[in-house]
Amino acid sequence: MINGDLMKKTSVFCVVLLFCIFLVSCSTPPNFEKQYFAMGTVITQNIYGTDPQKAADEVFSKIQQLESVLTINKAGSQIDTLNSNAGNGKWIPLDKEIIYILETAQKYAALSNGAFDPTVGPLVKAWGIFTDHPRIPPQTEIKRLLKLVNYKDLLLDVPNLSARLTKKGQIVDLGGIAKGYAGDVAKDIYIKDGIKSAFINLGGNVVALGSKPDGSPWKVGIQNPRQPDGKYLGIVPIRNQTVVTSGDYERYFERNGVRYHHIIDPKTGAPSKSGLISTSIITDVSINADALSTATFVLGLEKAMALVESLPGVEAIFITSDKKIYTTKGLQGVFTFTDTSGEFTYVEKR
Ligand code: AMP
Ligand code: MG
Repeated sequence: MINGDLMKKTSVFCVVLLFCIFLVSCSTPPNFEKQYFAMGTVITQNIYGTDPQKAADEVFSKIQQLESVLTINKAGSQIDTLNSNAGNGKWIPLDKEIIYILETAQKYAALSNGAFDPTVGPLVKAWGIFTDHPRIPPQTEIKRLLKLVNYKDLLLDVPNLSARLTKKGQIVDLGGIAKGYAGDVAKDIYIKDGIKSAFINLGGNVVALGSKPDGSPWKVGIQNPRQPDGKYLGIVPIRNQTVVTSGDYERYFERNGVRYHHIIDPKTGAPSKSGLISTSIITDVSINADALSTATFVLGLEKAMALVESLPGVEAIFITSDKKIYTTKGLQGVFTFTDTSGEFTYVEKR
């Protein structure tokens, strides 16, 4: 996240996030495996190659640097500067890569008709799901804050590498996309360092470089959203791809038996109740997968399926609150359903 909240995630959340997606098996032991903590989550890197330590450290420093510019919890970070100047007409200079993240966020906001919206910050803050004091904001407050949520109010001047928010009080929150970008950057560093085979898991955002050293695909487990971490209900084999999951089990609080999770529907201002409890996107570019995992979660099964099926090279796994699993056509015969809880049904044909 790198939303205000990404940065605040506690170690409890980290443990939760660690296993949202994970390597199911790795018959060849990695010649290097290391865990770090950054972006509010545990980051695991498996690297095969010469001098993996150097690549892993380089990736970690880069992720820390990204965290420091994208966080909204540190006064003076680039995104904080963008937010704190909202509504005053000033164009804020930003790093090229931040402009790229913002452009990508805008693209998926438009594509999902605002289901993904990087200006959702005021609502994320109001619910305080990542804080020690989460709350249910009164409807009057939600109504007021909804007026601040509109990705079209985020103006980008790409040639001059600057941006501004048109209304005072608006907050850009890149929590739904930043880890995806970090995964792409990690992969680029591995390639630059001559590594042919690597796997990074940023709290449920997985990116693979190549295949396993023996040539077989990496096997990624999809977490059972209603069971403890590490219980998966299916496996997706990937080579040189990314798998990103959004789920209502990743971060939430409960009041009177109701779960209030961290993915906000920008139309209602409340945690999304689209009928989906987990969405996983499989594609080549992790920033795209991250934006789409959040967008499809909010869109609900029908619209999510239509959106993903319209995008070449993108596949998805959707899990509904009535415990049915749906996959895009391209995953049929590829996704292996392995649920042992007996609670979930794989609906192969829709
Ligand atoms: P993810 O786990 O990738 O689905 O991202 C969820 C995070 O993105 C939340 O913790 C918020 O910081 C932010 N977020 C919540 N709702 C939205 C939304 N509708 N669009 C974009 N970002 C969101
Ligand atoms: Mg996301």
